[in-house]
Amino acid sequence: MAKEKQTGEAKKLTPMMQQYMAVKEQNPDAILFYRLGDFYEMFFEDAKVASRELELTLTGRDCGLPERAPMCGVPFHSAESYIARLIQKGYKVAICEQMEDPATAKGLVKRDVIRKITSGTLLESTMLDEKRNNFICAIQWDDTYGAGLCFCDISTGQTQAIEMFGGGLAGAVISELARFEPREAVLSPKAMEQEEVITFLQKRLSCQIERGEEQDFTEEAGRQWMGKHFENTPQLQEDTEGRPMLIGAVGGLMAYLHQTQKNDLRQINRLEVYTKAQFMGLDPAARRNLELCQVMRSGEKKGSLLWVLDYTRTAMGGRLLRQWLEKPLVNAAQIALRQNAVQALLGDRPRRDGVLEGLRGVFDLERLISRVVYGSANCRDLRSLWQTACHIPQVKEHLEGFGGSQYLKELWEEIDCLEDVADLIDRAISEEPPFSLREGNLLREGFDEKIDQLRDLLKGGKGTLAAIEQRERERTGIPKLKVSYNKVFGYYIEISKSYADMAPEDYTRRQTLTGSERFITPELKELESQMLSAGEQLTALEYQLFCKVRDKVAMQAHRIQRTARAVAQLDALCSFALAAEKNGYVMPQVDYSGVLDIREGRHPVVEKMLEDQLFVPNDTYMDQGDDRVSIITGPNMAGKSTYMRQVALIVVMAQCGSFVPAKSAHVGICDQVFTRVGASDDLTRGQSTFMVEMSEVADILQKATHRSLLILDEIGRGTSTYDGMAIARAVLEYTASKKTLGCKTLFATHYHELKELESQVSGVKNYNVVVKKRGDDITFLRKIVPGGADDSYGIQVAKLAGLPDSVIQRAKQVLQSLLEQAPQQKTEGRKKASQPEAPEGQMTLGGAMGEEVLEKLRKLEPDTLSPIEGLGLLYELCKLAKEC
Ligand code: ATP
Repeated sequence: MAKEKQTGEAKKLTPMMQQYMAVKEQNPDAILFYRLGDFYEMFFEDAKVASRELELTLTGRDCGLPERAPMCGVPFHSAESYIARLIQKGYKVAICEQMEDPATAKGLVKRDVIRKITSGTLLESTMLDEKRNNFICAIQWDDTYGAGLCFCDISTGQTQAIEMFGGGLAGAVISELARFEPREAVLSPKAMEQEEVITFLQKRLSCQIERGEEQDFTEEAGRQWMGKHFENTPQLQEDTEGRPMLIGAVGGLMAYLHQTQKNDLRQINRLEVYTKAQFMGLDPAARRNLELCQVMRSGEKKGSLLWVLDYTRTAMGGRLLRQWLEKPLVNAAQIALRQNAVQALLGDRPRRDGVLEGLRGVFDLERLISRVVYGSANCRDLRSLWQTACHIPQVKEHLEGFGGSQYLKELWEEIDCLEDVADLIDRAISEEPPFSLREGNLLREGFDEKIDQLRDLLKGGKGTLAAIEQRERERTGIPKLKVSYNKVFGYYIEISKSYADMAPEDYTRRQTLTGSERFITPELKELESQMLSAGEQLTALEYQLFCKVRDKVAMQAHRIQRTARAVAQLDALCSFALAAEKNGYVMPQVDYSGVLDIREGRHPVVEKMLEDQLFVPNDTYMDQGDDRVSIITGPNMAGKSTYMRQVALIVVMAQCGSFVPAKSAHVGICDQVFTRVGASDDLTRGQSTFMVEMSEVADILQKATHRSLLILDEIGRGTSTYDGMAIARAVLEYTASKKTLGCKTLFATHYHELKELESQVSGVKNYNVVVKKRGDDITFLRKIVPGGADDSYGIQVAKLAGLPDSVIQRAKQVLQSLLEQAPQQKTEGRKKASQPEAPEGQMTLGGAMGEEVLEKLRKLEPDTLSPIEGLGLLYELCKLAKEC
């Protein structure tokens, strides 16, 4: 509605519309669902938007103004699906409820917003992906101190925070955002100035951004919220000491959550503080290229590493497994804990099957208890909790016997069988309860005496009616006398016209119909009021008692959440064990040796995707000595990219605690894995393919350390041959040299000239992918074996992209020497390197003509030709070939 209507014309609005406008004014950024009886109604602009987005009929309602207010509505019992659709489309929805009983309220019923639903604050299972967390985050920023990030999934209560500082802060923040993929972010005013971060959130993550208030992000405000939510343990004190940015982010997030949820959010009671050094560094490009949790093209899980490894039985386990893959470890002892647990689970199949069988009956305990604590759980949620609690003893019992794994032992101790919770729910809640909490039948018989009495009265009442009917028929001698009910008159006696004058004196006539008369009696009136109030009383009492039971369960939230966390870990470990068993993985030796020794390694996803051929395994050996850099050459389609990704994935899997697809593997822990693969424009950042490539390389060279693993697939292809090759060589020298980086690098290239580096730069080894050539035919053998060029301003662009000066200088020198070695190419102009040179020994025929010659040869069947036809064809082919 236009502003003037809110002010100038506001007085003309009906009282209800004035109330609506007042509430709307408080929530201008959300579509207001205004409760009117059994409907949520939307008005004015909200109605227009909702009718368009939800395909609802747009009607109108008198509002006191000359024009009717545009209106549309949805029934309150099916509102959830409509809200879900609006949230999906990027809107926020404010739920405005009646705050008093319309039946007893005097005048206009009080209404207020009870919750604002946003994409980052969802609780409803129907709006959430069960195997994926739904994070909201807050970012605090200060150019002097650094940045603080706090992530929270309010549907599980999980809350994590990190503080970061130093150079490349925006990049580091972006890497963390890529790990959690929040759907909504609340930014402090200073964080709102970080354009790179904002662009990433909006363009890459499609994340909704909220501008927070400075005062919510102060250390003082943060400490206050922390005091309300988290127990101030010595550990938490130590973790947050001297971290004002982190505390500020917690404050900013909690303030926003409380403003929108209007709930004390007791499910948020544990803060995990972590640091960058605890996990393997994986920037957004590496996550995307390695397709850890989703594939690049479609964004689907199928085809990703998670897809191969996910054998989880529970939603909680599924979410945790995803988190583990997003956060590979760098601590050998922590990795060994997971590995030993997986080993133990693999070694005792009967017990593991017992655990798995138990897990099958486990519902989403984390989200169930969050809804219980939040106060939005219904009877069915409590029944699911009960069913889960019934299966947990089986899980715990089978878990007991696993020897040799400290981790499994700890999980066994953490799991609480929750017998008291199960007993309470089972005694209280109906076995098959309704979805709604306002229609009765919530509680079991025998749970509460008063409820049983009221139910008896209701049942007895119906029996009493039948008895009255029988008695009155006998008393009056009217055979078809009926006792019935309708909403207008309540209970009445109906007698057909022909018997009407036989009605006794205590019958009071109420209505005359065509064929009958209706009467009431004092007895019926009395019964009616008793029964009607019994129904209402019963519903109200049931709801009240249900809430008490729910609150009692909520009191046990800590125990239930702890059990949920343990069950999730157990499920994720079982998933690793199942994946290892089904796919033939082995336990890698993981340490700080810096060695990467993989025998008969396989690509975990490609091997699953190949249908009619076997995956060819390959060995890898790299270390921090003579085998740091592998240059991999070979024709297109030979399998270079697959091989390099396979190595990176095996490292990631090993550091997650998973077993790996190989005959044996020794993995020296990598602090970061970087990938530079393929060509992609980033039009959103206004960068060309080559600029993106160079920016990524620059970023990698800046962040990598000697403990990192680099996967560089065809660096320098997007520019002229000489520039590209020069950059490729300079980058290789930079990563190979211990003076600059000296990290493990797998480098695939079509610049065969780079092979000479093996003899010139220490630490470099050549490998190639073998193919068998027969005439012009190539058979791909997929086997990696030892052994083993123009002006387009590439170096200048590389410099613009921020490549280290030493690389640029060296690239210039290399370019100069290349030009001197091949002066004829200088005059030829600079051939685009994106057209790869034909691999050695292959026949080349240019353009469409060449294709025509080949096509004719392919179709040729020599046995069917006469000598004269053969000669004619030969002439023709020779002529065509000369034109190519
Ligand atoms: P290009 O140089 O053109 O980028 P490439 O050498 O990087 O090619 P890949 O993309 O790795 O080639 O592999 C091409 C296809 O070959 C893969 O999609 C896969 O189906 C198959 N492939 C690769 N490696 C193997 C293997 N070890 N065993 C079986 N099939 C394989």
